[in-house]
Amino acid sequence: MRAEILSVGTELLLGQIVDTNAAYLAGRLSALGIDCLWISAVGDNLGRAQETFARALERSDLVVATGGLGPTEDDLTREAIAAAVGEAPAVDAGLERELEEWFARRGMPMPERNRKQAWLIPSARALPNPNGTAPGWWVEARGRIVVAMPGVPREMTRMWEVEVEPRLPRGAPIRSRTLKLLGIGESAVEEALGELVHSTAPTLATYAKADGVHIRITDKDLDAARRDARIETMERTVRERLGVHVWGTDAETLPEVIGRGLVARGWRLATAEALTGGELARALSEADHDGWYAGGVVRPGASAEELADAAATIRADVLVIVPHGEAESTVHLRAPDRDRRSTFHFASPAEARRRGMLGSLDLLHRALADTAGGRGQSPLR
Ligand code: ATP
Ligand code: MG
Repeated sequence: MRAEILSVGTELLLGQIVDTNAAYLAGRLSALGIDCLWISAVGDNLGRAQETFARALERSDLVVATGGLGPTEDDLTREAIAAAVGEAPAVDAGLERELEEWFARRGMPMPERNRKQAWLIPSARALPNPNGTAPGWWVEARGRIVVAMPGVPREMTRMWEVEVEPRLPRGAPIRSRTLKLLGIGESAVEEALGELVHSTAPTLATYAKADGVHIRITDKDLDAARRDARIETMERTVRERLGVHVWGTDAETLPEVIGRGLVARGWRLATAEALTGGELARALSEADHDGWYAGGVVRPGASAEELADAAATIRADVLVIVPHGEAESTVHLRAPDRDRRSTFHFASPAEARRRGMLGSLDLLHRALADTAGGRGQSPLR
């Protein structure tokens, strides 16, 4: 089943809102095992909206639309769908009554322009919307399904989960496993993966993210156990090649993983920052639920020695120092076994903060990995 998502609204084209509806729906479709092949947005313009629906109906089995179901003149999704399937909308008596009751319950007369929310076309049935006035449409025409839902996310997500998903034919459920790496670039990862990047079941994809390179292993199968076994085998193969660099999986964050390593050794950590301006303290304290973070100092412009002095009163086993620098800086790490340092370069204050964060977290992670004695076998997993 080929699906596509169509967002209607000029606000999207002006950059005034971000298309979170499409992102939500894309995630839901993928979890159902339905392939989503296109996402598009069109403004509140009847001609262009109709054209976009017509094109979607030509190439997709399922078209999922949001927005433009309101009562006003620029809400024209119903008109566009009706025109694209060649049918005429008419007021449905049942829907009209419900709509009038909705207003009556709130002690308001129904504005005349709301009447079009009671429209249906012959191949549409209404999807109830308890959170608003606009019912959705489920249209079956020419062997295709078109679903139209309100743009307001709260109304749309309920309608999708309660009214739409249970009616959809399911494909093979998809699952992903993400491995997160540090200390290696995306192209070196690709090189190490070699022929694996051409694998089709599972597929492999690499992403350069703020916390290093991610490798996502994805597969789907009507037999979930078979799918999971293939993902596991692939994960083992990837770890054989790149395991030294893997610091975490799926939703794990670097500060969380570092926290676990500290707890395992009974160590507490302090920070002294110039370049990162307190970001390191914030990230660590956010992740700390067990008291491994002893606190930190922030001294803009300070050198490594000044920072070490400033942090001297904090009682901790490990101290990370991120000194000020122009174009380069060296993170210092003092740990019970030995000291470590790592130098990095940067071209802007934003890059300095990003590199300072990643550099210090990487150094911490590595220190915790090798004090455990294992080479290539990260104990932080
Ligand atoms: P209403 O009945 O409230 O008019 P509608 O179906 O006509 O709903 P729109 O008028 O297109 O929907 O959008 C209403 C509001 O919903 C927008 O102002 C915006 O806040 C939100 N919204 C619409 N489309 C999206 C989208 N694709 N992603 C996120 N939010 C959206
Ligand atoms: Mg509207």
